This record gives sequence, C-alpha cells and structure tokens, in this order.
Amino acid sequence: MDESERVERSDAEWRARLTPRQYEVTRLEGTERPFTGRYWDTTTPGTYRCVGCGLELFSSGTKYDAGCGWPSFTAPVDPAAVEETPDDGHGMRRTEVICRRCGAHLGHVFDDGPAPTGQRYCINSASLDLEEAEDAGSESGSGSGSDSDSESDAGSDSDSESGSGSGSE
Ligand code: FE
Repeated sequence: MDESERVERSDAEWRARLTPRQYEVTRLEGTERPFTGRYWDTTTPGTYRCVGCGLELFSSGTKYDAGCGWPSFTAPVDPAAVEETPDDGHGMRRTEVICRRCGAHLGHVFDDGPAPTGQRYCINSASLDLEEAEDAGSESGSGSGSDSDSESDAGSDSDSESGSGSGSE
C-alpha cells in the first residue's frame, strides 16, 4: 500500500458520508460504549473493512471474545493496513490504532491478547463494516456464474432462504 492510495476528505465530506456515530468514533476518536456496538459479539465469517474507506482491516478468523464488549482481534489482516501510534489521552498510556489509508480512528491495541500474537486489537464497531463471507454454507456452486446480486436471483425476494430441503432451484 503506498501513499498514493491514501484517502483524504474534508470534514464536511466525512460528515456527509458517515453516520453521526461513525463520524464521532472515526474522526473524533470517540469510543462507543461496551456491549453496545454492532459487532462486539458477532461470529459471522467475513472481512471487516474500514467504514471510512473500505480497506480490509480485520478478519473474522482472528476475532475472539475478549469479554470487553468491543470487537477484538489478535491481528489485522495485514500489518500495513493499520497504523499504531502512542495515545496518552484520558490519563492512560495506550496505543491507538488507525486506518492507514484514511486515518480513521479504529480503537486501541493492548498486549493482553491470546496466542499467537498476544495482542488484543480492541476496535469500535462503528469503525467497521462487515463484509460477510460469500461462500459460508453454500456449496452448491450452481454453475450459473453468478458473482453478484444480478438477476440470477430474480424471483427470490428473501435473502434468507437457506436451502430449505427442496431441491436446488
Ligand atoms: Fe480507512
């Protein structure tokens, strides 16, 4: 990832693009209250992207329950995806984690995580956007080459049909 990929927007643009909660957390270094965020207890397989710029930040594979009320991960998908800087705010010495591409405040990283890294990336749900893994549970491979929400789904108005026993199609 090089500098040219950096995403920079004006304050007004961020305000327009983000919800008030997302804006407060990512641009003002806010912290959502524990056990209130969208993803603190989510176990859905997928990739957590930056809510500001879409960069892949964390994978469900490294997510674990730290009992702290925020989504916690042992590592980012790529060390280059995040930037870690000292944060002495609030009378604590912590390490802030921000998105390398757009500078969004994500949360903090602590040294009390589990193996293999010993790290706990404590991240605000409001900074993340979960992209659910597409192949989770679907092994049909119906051959129609549908790789998007195109018309191949026409007729199925619910997105929760989990192969309810009847034959495919
Ligand atoms: Fe970002």
